[in-house]
Amino acid sequence: MNFELSGDQLTFQTLAKAFSDNELKPNAAKWDAECTFPLETIKKAGELGFCSLYVSEDNGGMGLSKVDATIIIEELAAGCTSTTAFMTIHNMATWMVSEFGSTKLKEEWLQDLNSGSKLSSYCLTEPGSGSDAASLKTSAVKKDNCYVLNGNKAFISGSGSTDCLILMARTGDGGPGGISCFLVPADADGIEYGKNESKMGWRNQPTRIVSLKDVKIPLDNLMGQEGQGFKIAMKGLDGGRINIATCSVGTAQAALEEAQKYMNEREQFGKKIGEFQALQFKLADMTTNLVAARQMVRLAASKLENNDPDSTTYCAMAKRFATDVGFDVCNEALQIFGGYGYIQDYPLERYVRDVRVHQILEGTNEIMKMIVGRRMLLEGAARIIQ
Ligand SMILES: Cc1cc2nc3c(=O)[nH]c(=O)nc-3n(C[C@H](O)[C@H](O)[C@H](O)COP(=O)(O)OP(=O)(O)OC[C@H]3O[C@@H](n4cnc5c(N)ncnc54)[C@H](O)[C@@H]3O)c2cc1C
Repeated sequence: MNFELSGDQLTFQTLAKAFSDNELKPNAAKWDAECTFPLETIKKAGELGFCSLYVSEDNGGMGLSKVDATIIIEELAAGCTSTTAFMTIHNMATWMVSEFGSTKLKEEWLQDLNSGSKLSSYCLTEPGSGSDAASLKTSAVKKDNCYVLNGNKAFISGSGSTDCLILMARTGDGGPGGISCFLVPADADGIEYGKNESKMGWRNQPTRIVSLKDVKIPLDNLMGQEGQGFKIAMKGLDGGRINIATCSVGTAQAALEEAQKYMNEREQFGKKIGEFQALQFKLADMTTNLVAARQMVRLAASKLENNDPDSTTYCAMAKRFATDVGFDVCNEALQIFGGYGYIQDYPLERYVRDVRVHQILEGTNEIMKMIVGRRMLLEGAARIIQ
């Protein structure tokens, strides 16, 4: 077993860090304060391949492994958590198109999605169905030569500024088996976008309700087969959970470095605060937990890459663990900054606000525990504890 990064991975890491340091980090605070969605910067990231990280080369993407993708995402998130988190959602949705879209859909959309010149949103959640996503009510009815969609999607990241919606809707009976997945052009007649939600974090990307009223889309816009939509949505989310977990790790790494620097600068009681053992122990725990979270995320990414039968469980464990650790590390770093951590001249309060939502979305951390607990109890733990 080799835990070192390969030469290629070190190259990706250097490239991503340069982009993060030059394009993301200097602007993150301003974008947050002004709620600016940096579309031009995302396009620039797309030119480097960061909008199609794990789309196969056959489908025009970078063709990287899930582990390689985490190395890039971690560096980007250290520069701007919110922008990177949106880019990971776009990567997830683009991968779904590449894997499950019809030839016609791929011809029409994939090149632009891969390059980031067009952007995508992922639409699963509804006002009445969040954790219980399989109870969604948005309907898709086949009529003449199209599907007609009606319903509401809630909390849709990027919506109003994206070009297509990867949307789960009901074509059959209740439960997961009645759900199908569609690519819906974001400007289709009958779509309305709600107000941009005012949020605690992720303030530089829009989050809106998307309402669909008699929206007609071609039959070819079905992804996979009718009734496979929930499985497709969950497959996308396995990768999405690793990505979000990685955004927490990258942000926490940035917070840790700020704290480390500050401990060597700030003086109280005639000493550098880094000389207080209480703070040294805090820094040691932050570092240890962060390294553990990073390794857990890479392990889950590797399981997913290799189609391990327990990859969903590992992705859930990694998402739960790394997003909890990520929040705690950012929060402890804020504490090390004392009052300065709480004001916006420093990035700590933004880090805390931005990573908080990672414990909630792409399945709450309670739902992650449910996935792991069920696997352990109902299906036996033999493989998982190997
Ligand atoms: C900023 C933001 C961006 C988002 N972006 C997207 C997006 O792009 N696309 C998308 O589809 N969705 C998106 N979401 C939605 C997100 O995935 C949901 O908010 C999340 O899945 C939780 O659903 P809910 O908010 O309805 O909470 P609920 O499901 O109502 O849960 C409420 C509480 O009950 C707990 N709970 C629920 N069921 C159980 C259970 N069985 N056992 C124990 N506890 C339980 C939950 O953990 C939570 O603490 C976004 C959300 C936010 C805040």
